[in-house]
Amino acid sequence: MDLELTGKRALVLGASRGLGMAIASSLAAEGATVFAAARNRDKIEGWAAGMDHVHPVECDLSQIAQVDALADSLLADGGVDIIVNNGGGPPPGTAQAAERAQWLTHFEAMAANIFHLNTRLLPAMKERGWGRIISITSSGVEQPIPNLALSNGIRSAVVGWSKTLANEVAGDGITVNVVMPGRIHTQRVDELDAAAAKRTDSDVADVAARSRATIPASRYGKPEEFADVVSFLASARASYVTGSRIRIDGGAIRGI
Ligand code: NAD
Repeated sequence: MDLELTGKRALVLGASRGLGMAIASSLAAEGATVFAAARNRDKIEGWAAGMDHVHPVECDLSQIAQVDALADSLLADGGVDIIVNNGGGPPPGTAQAAERAQWLTHFEAMAANIFHLNTRLLPAMKERGWGRIISITSSGVEQPIPNLALSNGIRSAVVGWSKTLANEVAGDGITVNVVMPGRIHTQRVDELDAAAAKRTDSDVADVAARSRATIPASRYGKPEEFADVVSFLASARASYVTGSRIRIDGGAIRGI
């Protein structure tokens, strides 16, 4: 299957490691020109060394001036065809403990600034009559994860925005979708398992084994498995998939 990604221009946010890095690599391997954005350019330069199609760009999503500067530089060159909205997750905590200031800070970095960036990049996509917008959220938007109130709440706003936008631009050849990782084996997941082991005074291997046992596939997903689905959604082949939430979770969400 030819994904027809050769020559497409893709922006991948939060691309210094983990899912963002895997998606940027996958799109570049399929022939797209990838603008890989993160707070720290050096980290991208590290994994992208020797990859002609990957251009590291600096952008801290919590800083609106940096978000606007990124939009300006991309638009000066015609904009992008594909946007992958990704970034860091907020700290854990209960809904009762979450403070107003935390909601505002994390909503800005994880939602408002991303909505703003997409709004700025959309007119160029509409002019070309082709575009793909894919937002990485979490299985928590479908089945809220205990002690992750900020993540569950803010990512649900991203889903509402995505669906509303999908309906607005479907006639312009632009698809807008959300992907929901369950447990994909990135450095962050190792860090979370290590934190859980410390909190419960357990062995980290036991914590990871218990976590894997809750997943019907009995294992964590590989970042490449996740990135393959995103690359498909970003491709010409996925032209009739829009306004959807796609689970990539090895069956972890039990409902249908
Ligand atoms: P990660 O923490 O390894 O990667 C997050 C990326 O976002 C990094 O490149 C980081 O530098 C970047 N980032 C953080 N804050 C940023 C900011 N202010 N501006 C720009 N970039 C910023 O996480 P991951 O495992 O790759 O997951 C990606 C996203 O998906 C995260 O939001 C995570 O919470 C979410 N998620 C992941 C899983 C999973 O199984 N890996 C599950 C559910 C949700």
